[in-house]
Amino acid sequence: MVTTTVRETEAVVVGGGLAGITAAHRLAARGVRVVLLEKRDKLGGSSAMSGGWFALSDTPIQHRANVEDSAGSFLRDMVETGGGYADVALLQRLVERQSDVIATIDRASAWTDELKVSWGMSVPRAHLIRIRDLLGFLEREAASAGASILTAHPAESMMWDGARVTGVRSQAGDIAASLGVVLTSGGFSRSRDLLDLFVPHQAAAMPYGGAGNTGDGLRMAMVLGAGLADVGHVAGTYGQHADTRDDEHELLTANYLGAILINANGDRFSDESASYKILGSAVLDQPQGMAHQVFDSVVRGRSKPGVPLSDMERIDELGHLVQAPSLGALEAKLGIPRGRLERTVDVYNSVVAGIRADQFHRNGLVAGVGDLVPVRVPPFYAYSAVPAMTSTYGGLKVAADTSVQRMDGTRIDRLFAAGEVTGGFHGASYMTGTALTKALAFGIEAADTIAALKRP
Ligand SMILES: Cc1cc2nc3c(=O)[nH]c(=O)nc-3n(C[C@H](O)[C@H](O)[C@H](O)COP(=O)(O)OP(=O)(O)OC[C@H]3O[C@@H](n4cnc5c(N)ncnc54)[C@H](O)[C@@H]3O)c2cc1C
Repeated sequence: MVTTTVRETEAVVVGGGLAGITAAHRLAARGVRVVLLEKRDKLGGSSAMSGGWFALSDTPIQHRANVEDSAGSFLRDMVETGGGYADVALLQRLVERQSDVIATIDRASAWTDELKVSWGMSVPRAHLIRIRDLLGFLEREAASAGASILTAHPAESMMWDGARVTGVRSQAGDIAASLGVVLTSGGFSRSRDLLDLFVPHQAAAMPYGGAGNTGDGLRMAMVLGAGLADVGHVAGTYGQHADTRDDEHELLTANYLGAILINANGDRFSDESASYKILGSAVLDQPQGMAHQVFDSVVRGRSKPGVPLSDMERIDELGHLVQAPSLGALEAKLGIPRGRLERTVDVYNSVVAGIRADQFHRNGLVAGVGDLVPVRVPPFYAYSAVPAMTSTYGGLKVAADTSVQRMDGTRIDRLFAAGEVTGGFHGASYMTGTALTKALAFGIEAADTIAALKRP
């Protein structure tokens, strides 16, 4: 198809999730003419489907809960979680940008009081934010600041003059961008070919995340020689029902409240307090690639309605919570060979009672915090879940100012990227809440980098 230049602007942002809306808003607010292109018919992407947990340190909510935290401790935890693979310069910029993230959430009045500890955190640092309120606020602010928002407008490729990126090609025409292009097109959780290329061992994970997240930004930048980071570490998240719809957040991690994980044979197979990414890979190796979260009425009482990952009420409403008066009846409902579940629970309960050591070395509910709970008080419950490819935490190699880099570290002039399309932040594993914090922090960073080009 022949395209013609239909528009000229200063900056184009490709993808309207949290990173893209944030970048477009900040650019417009800083007086840069900007066009935001979104492939789907509405903004949101994976951000709108997410649980809304943001990892942040030294916040008023932590202070109220007497949690002592600091940017240094957050940084150390992320470096450790990444197993030495993450780019420390990126993490350093992420913690520096926290004040902007907090100020944005303040302005959107999107805080809740929920604060929790998650895998990789030395203290409770995961803050539950009303993510749709935040996205709605940013979209309204972006429009009123003058950003031009075009939905149902997929970007197809970059315009390149031999030295620098000059704009974006789309079916609706070319858009020239005098200052630069920001890729905020999300990850590749919906791209079978990229998942097969980078992580074929994760191929059985359930495809999930924003329907538009097919790795377009990666492909467009790779054509120009962009480097990649962390792509081989991408893993599914354990804890989603196999029938989950796209518009339903149905992740449950009852294991962090005390449940055990049982495979289809009725056996435990892992330390249930491990990261849901590590568990995702462990579950893929189990028969039928699934595992039941099994718990009793004590753990059932710990459900938090409306709180993503801990909301058993919603799972029950959806008809996905199995209940039985005895372990024998539960195992029959789950199709587990007779007597196996009871035997496994007996062994586990003796671990909890301190009679024997745990073969999987479980030492807490999550992050070494919380006492183990026996599976003892009827009725008993099970949630049968699979690993879902919710997000892909590797992607384009970027500098801390969001410039896209080639593998040798040189920059592709006037091409920037932020959010899940980028790699280098998470390394070998993932701390809950860092993906949304990263999207917001680096949406702002990208906008400030481009705005500085206007006024050197
Ligand atoms: C179920 C679920 C729960 C999650 N929970 C959490 C959580 O609690 N905390 C956390 O930190 N992270 C969580 N995540 C991950 C997090 O939501 C994402 O990493 C983050 O929202 C990514 O933001 P983004 O702006 O980079 O991308 P997205 O929000 O995915 O936005 C990308 C946008 O780009 C568009 N796009 C793609 N290609 C093109 C193109 N060619 N042209 C134009 N537009 C294009 C897409 O349609 C999409 O709208 C969760 C993810 C899922 C799926």
